[in-house]
Amino acid sequence: MNDEYDAIVLGLGGIGSGAAFWLAERGARVLGIEQFELGHARGESHDHSRIIRLSYVAPNYVQLAKEAYDAWSAVEADSGERLVFRTGGFDIGPRDGAIPIQGYADALSAAGVPYEILDAAEIRRRVPAWQVDDSIHALFQADGGIVAAERATAAHQRIARSRGAVLLEKTPVTAIEASNGAVNVEAGGRRYHARHLIVAAGPWSGPVLQRFGVRLPLEVTKEQAMYFAPADTTAFAFREFPVWIWMDDPSFYGFPVFGESGAIKITQDAGGRAVDPDTRGFDPDPAITQRVRGFIAKYLPSALGPERVVKTCLYTLTPDRDFVIDSLPEHPNVHVAIGAGHAFKFASVIGRILSDLALDGSTESPIDAFTIDRHILQMEAPPKTYMV
Ligand SMILES: Cc1cc2nc3c(=O)[nH]c(=O)nc-3n(C[C@H](O)[C@H](O)[C@H](O)COP(=O)(O)OP(=O)(O)OC[C@H]3O[C@@H](n4cnc5c(N)ncnc54)[C@H](O)[C@@H]3O)c2cc1C
Repeated sequence: MNDEYDAIVLGLGGIGSGAAFWLAERGARVLGIEQFELGHARGESHDHSRIIRLSYVAPNYVQLAKEAYDAWSAVEADSGERLVFRTGGFDIGPRDGAIPIQGYADALSAAGVPYEILDAAEIRRRVPAWQVDDSIHALFQADGGIVAAERATAAHQRIARSRGAVLLEKTPVTAIEASNGAVNVEAGGRRYHARHLIVAAGPWSGPVLQRFGVRLPLEVTKEQAMYFAPADTTAFAFREFPVWIWMDDPSFYGFPVFGESGAIKITQDAGGRAVDPDTRGFDPDPAITQRVRGFIAKYLPSALGPERVVKTCLYTLTPDRDFVIDSLPEHPNVHVAIGAGHAFKFASVIGRILSDLALDGSTESPIDAFTIDRHILQMEAPPKTYMV
């Protein structure tokens, strides 16, 4: 093994695997280092599905989401595997909900993305499983759907390796030095050298960045994906039932039947408690379970059935819920991405952007709002806005 690389990627979850893929795609010598086994269930990226959508409240996210679909198309072309499944997507909720749909409509209009606003009667006509009264409305966007998360990460890793990337698993990074445009990384009792370091450490971003003297007001929370198995899932079949996000506080989201589970995935967004990623435990939180069951009973009663599987998973939340995608001001050859609990859909494009930052020194993608030294990330006790 050659210990000299163009770039070392610290962390091979969704985003780090995307970075390894795009760096290798561009011919760079890449070393990826993962502390657990590849595909492990202790971070943010496991499980077989994540929502992908163009519908976001800010134009920069809509643009980034367009680029996300393009990035996944490139991975699909390389892998010969389908990774993105369009089901259509609902942003649905009370007309006076905590997350106004109008902002999403405005951002989509500004980007020239088609969508429809549906009243309750039209929602019920199109998707009878929704038991909604006239206080509810929805934005429908046809490109919304599912990324096959675990398969997408595995595809990134497999193709990166086929292009020469070295990906190590069960190898925690234990020391990092960065100076004079070079980085030295210690992992598994060995030292590696590179011109660039990419930090894609998910819930462990805090401790990794502290090695550079960077402290961010991040909160790691333990969330849970819940799979319900009612007697009849016909109304929730893949082609019948769009992915959805409930635009209120608390916010919930869900999927049609997808993948091998044969069950309906529904859960709460950002409803979990703060945890330490090293001591977090894996038990579901009964309070989340109760909130999710209560929501389903009210609005999607035919989905309510026994919980077939409940998987816990971590979010790494910035106080404004915006990403960090930036190079460290004091170490311009160290590039960082933090996904703020909604980044799987962007995992490939963020990986591509990190490869731009490392290989070109800049990117044309819209990351100006995601700087690591923005005001809110400098605050000791910032206000938290977790609704997206
Ligand atoms: C329940 C749940 C549902 C979600 N739903 C959606 C959704 O529908 N749509 C969406 O877009 N996003 C969704 N997200 C968010 C999305 O999954 C995450 O934003 C994304 O997966 C983050 O990926 P990551 O690579 O940053 O983190 P991770 O996957 O956690 O990867 C970080 C990796 O770094 C490794 N690492 C850390 N420190 C070290 C070290 N010192 N040495 C070596 N390795 C190290 C870790 O072991 C880990 O593998 C969801 C998240 C959860 C938990």
